[in-house]
Amino acid sequence: MLYKEPAPIKDRENPFESMMSRFNIAAEVLGLDEETYNVLKSPTRQVIVNIPVTMDDGKVRVFEGYRVVHSTILGPSKGGIRYAPDVFLDEVKALAAWMTWKCAVVDIPYGGAKGGIICDPFTMSAGEIERLTRAYTQSLMDIFGPDRDIPAPDMGTGPREMAWLMDEYSKMKGSTEHAVVTGKPLVLGGSLGRVEATGRGVMVSAMAAMDKLGMDPNNTTAAIQGFGNVGAWAAKLMAERGVKILGISDVSGAYWNEKGIDIDEAIEYKNAHNGRLEGYKGAELMDDAGDLLTSKVDVLIPAAVEDVITIHNVDKIQAKLIVEGANGPTSYKADKIINEKGIMVVPDILANSGGVTVSYFEWVQNRMGFKWTLERVNERAERIMNEAFERVYAASQKYNVPMRIAAYIVAIDKVAMTYKYRGGF
Ligand code: GLU
Repeated sequence: MLYKEPAPIKDRENPFESMMSRFNIAAEVLGLDEETYNVLKSPTRQVIVNIPVTMDDGKVRVFEGYRVVHSTILGPSKGGIRYAPDVFLDEVKALAAWMTWKCAVVDIPYGGAKGGIICDPFTMSAGEIERLTRAYTQSLMDIFGPDRDIPAPDMGTGPREMAWLMDEYSKMKGSTEHAVVTGKPLVLGGSLGRVEATGRGVMVSAMAAMDKLGMDPNNTTAAIQGFGNVGAWAAKLMAERGVKILGISDVSGAYWNEKGIDIDEAIEYKNAHNGRLEGYKGAELMDDAGDLLTSKVDVLIPAAVEDVITIHNVDKIQAKLIVEGANGPTSYKADKIINEKGIMVVPDILANSGGVTVSYFEWVQNRMGFKWTLERVNERAERIMNEAFERVYAASQKYNVPMRIAAYIVAIDKVAMTYKYRGGF
């Protein structure tokens, strides 16, 4: 396979810029002093590793990997690891910062981090991915740790990779260290409810927002971009609450059914077809998958990648409510038009925080050596999400700002206050 270099950054939106521009607005509204501003905006550590891995054909290939620790002010840093062919450092930096703000919004005692490896897991064998994951873990032994930096799954990784990471870390330490990573398989100390946690949190925040907007779920339509773990679970749980899902999509295209898609059937189809919707017959394949975002629905849930709502399509969006299952799906340049159009956005750092919330529960259970029931996990996660939603909603009213800026205000205020108590050098 010929290795494809990622597109140069100048041709893309830059997620780090998007993060910083919102950070700057919120910092100004809060009247953050210059010193605290400088402390909060700078990532604590950025590590680039080059990882040689023997591929199945016997040749050695070198993979570039990253781990960015954005902040440890609230506690050990927390955040997933992304395996993707086009992952780049500024993206990982933005994702790490978003983890800091996300943990602060839901009020869990973690800082923020993120990792990434430039690779295409879809074209690699399980053995190659395992060797890569173990080698990445070894090269970051001095960063990771249950009280230092705790990875988790993100795009392109899941429980399988987390099991390898936990095993490699434990072998190097000479003791079983469950709490070094979350999102593990259940038998290895994973938590009940973790797999569906992000999608469930998206549903919970969508319901909370619909309530504020006076929307009746039984009379509401939605489109969901991305039918991976987050999108599929959000779709399923929203459909269970009466929302009619008219459109879904994944890399194979967008699928539309005016009468509503049978989500359980779509999930079954996807599971039987290598995780893809390709060939799904329960809905019509749209000519242009991009039209899903501007389709006539009440609620739009981008649950795939960054920068899909941009100045190029934002003026055509018809939804009244956007709930961001993905991290950074809206470029900062689109914010102004969204606000002018009066669309409510439940921002990523609030809407998708259900995942890290249950990761926190997993870590707590690992440290207690005691397993919670699914009811306890779901009930506590839902309470945390609803409380966070209300905090952000109240800040948006108090400061008269959109929900996104309000979420940053809540987060920055918390981290800034904690920093003041802890003190600097
Ligand atoms: N990767 C997920 C996120 O972006 C989960 C992170 C975690 O559980 O630590 O929120």
